[in-house]
Amino acid sequence: MHEASIAQAILDQVLKALPAPDSRVTKISLIAGPFAGIEFESLNFYFEELKKDTPAAPATLEMKTLSATIICTSCSHQEDFTPGSELKTKCPICSAPNRVTGSSDFYIDSIEVEEE
Ligand SMILES: [Zn+2]
Repeated sequence: MHEASIAQAILDQVLKALPAPDSRVTKISLIAGPFAGIEFESLNFYFEELKKDTPAAPATLEMKTLSATIICTSCSHQEDFTPGSELKTKCPICSAPNRVTGSSDFYIDSIEVEEE
């Protein structure tokens, strides 16, 4: 359900951004922070349904997920963290607790448009 409303919001934004009424959207690139919690498969499914009979009908959806960073609270050792993988709660160097940084941002990075 979450993804259905996001798909609608993306479509609304894209249609609002069209340079001319007869423009066609060909590609939409999205960026998701590591904690955005968006399931692309599901989002794409809803988008495919919603885009029908709109200028975004030819559009394909792409999503890039950013990785998060684990930072040691003591020695500042850093590692990339991919959400879904095992989270190391302790620093591998000094065993102090780690903290995780990364956003839950989600936004449209770019839109490709074709004018008739
Ligand atoms: Zn450390």
